[in-house]
Amino acid sequence: MKRTKVKDLLNSSAFGSEVVIKGWVRTFRNNQFIAINDGSTINNIQAVVDFTNTDESLLKKLTTGTAVSISGELIESLGKGQKVEIKVKELEILGDSDAEKFPLQPKKHSLEFLREIAHLRFRTNTFNAVFKVRHALAFAIHQFFNDKGFVYLHTPIITASDAEGAGEMFKVTTLDFNNAPKTESGEVDFKQDFFGKATNLTVSGQLEGELAAMALGEIYTFGPTFRAENSNTTRHLAEFWMIEPEVAFADLYDNMQLAEDLLKYVISYALKTCPDEIEFLKNRLLEEEKSKPQEERAELDLTAKLNFCLDNSFERLTYTEAIEILKNSTPNKKKKFKYLIEGWGADLQSEHERFLVEKHFKKPVILTDYPKDIKAFYMRQNDDGKTVRAMDILFPGIGEIIGGSQREERLQLLEKRMNEMHISTEELYWYLDTRRFGSAPHAGFGLGFERLVLFVTGMTNIRDVIPFPRAPKTAEF
Ligand code: ATP
Ligand code: MN
Repeated sequence: MKRTKVKDLLNSSAFGSEVVIKGWVRTFRNNQFIAINDGSTINNIQAVVDFTNTDESLLKKLTTGTAVSISGELIESLGKGQKVEIKVKELEILGDSDAEKFPLQPKKHSLEFLREIAHLRFRTNTFNAVFKVRHALAFAIHQFFNDKGFVYLHTPIITASDAEGAGEMFKVTTLDFNNAPKTESGEVDFKQDFFGKATNLTVSGQLEGELAAMALGEIYTFGPTFRAENSNTTRHLAEFWMIEPEVAFADLYDNMQLAEDLLKYVISYALKTCPDEIEFLKNRLLEEEKSKPQEERAELDLTAKLNFCLDNSFERLTYTEAIEILKNSTPNKKKKFKYLIEGWGADLQSEHERFLVEKHFKKPVILTDYPKDIKAFYMRQNDDGKTVRAMDILFPGIGEIIGGSQREERLQLLEKRMNEMHISTEELYWYLDTRRFGSAPHAGFGLGFERLVLFVTGMTNIRDVIPFPRAPKTAEF
């Protein structure tokens, strides 16, 4: 007989029918109630075994983590908390799990502990929920862009350009460290390396994305990016996934609208398709916050926070306006910020971004028109000579979730800016060709996928929303 998924059985009312389920034991109580999970839903199904007629040695094996196959009758449950259960007819152990050695016990484990056993943490409700939501968000992103006619573009993971300077890069080489060929001047001779030049793991697919957008019109990337960030924060990974749309004939306003629409679409998709998971994560968060002082607890629970985000338009203001607010803010005056805002030109730290979003506006914020000196070379220059057409979207609890801009489409201005910033116009000839041949206004942004997952799941550490986190001194599994 074919197995039925637990998810389908929990919604079934075909009482009296014969069913087969396969899954892992979560708990075994009173020598008769087995809670079984098969991953299809966060909820377990209860199987009731007649212990008087079952081998003692078999019952002993029903410990947390054991894989079982059960056939029996689907019946209406008399117990509280579930609608259906299975009256066991046959019980087979597929793989046992030594209770003395299995690290997961039927109790609450800390996220820190689970991070150390990340290969097993998929088996907890929390990570079941997190990765279901992560999947739903990924799917929704493709759906959103596909519906709009965007082309999903695969940009290279290995690149020869460190153009953007978005972060420290990981080198890619096949040279022998202990015996690397040298040039006459004593430097490593990358001409003899695999690609005949120095190569790195990409920090962003944007520059290549622009090439395609200037022909296909609307593209997006969704792939891994790598940054040798040496900062051990709860918001940075060394390997993370980024979504980068790029749109021809679009300006900064179109860009802001696209970003806001995308975020709202995918959040609403997750709410619709993962109600059980989000409910579970909401309660997990409420539980976790009980240990915090009142003033540090979130005002809204997870579902309310997500709905609030859908129901309100994002606050839009310029960097210059934001600086004024920050300069006159209480934490700045009382010197509570670690980095005090002295005046225009300062780069915003996450404490400032969070003040604007969480304390001042109490909703997502889009900041635009940053000083050109703290932004990348390709951003479109404003007429004031000081600012560029940048936009950052800041989210509560997260800080920056999106960074983007209208691109500088005017060749001469772009070349001038590159020279000022010591970026080789020769190396990036291919990028500049878009401006040489049929240049046009265009805009795009980068959305950090894990930061989005953080927001929607209410998790607080980015290492808990990616299956196998890569961070300084962390590359296990
Ligand atoms: P931050 O200031 O937070 O380091 P950034 O300015 O370096 O971000 P961008 O280069 O604009 O970020 O990248 C676009 C998006 O990618 C960011 O808005 C963020 O959501 C995400 N992102 C950037 N760096 C990381 C990282 N190390 N780990 C996870 N996500 C990241
Ligand atoms: Mn960064």
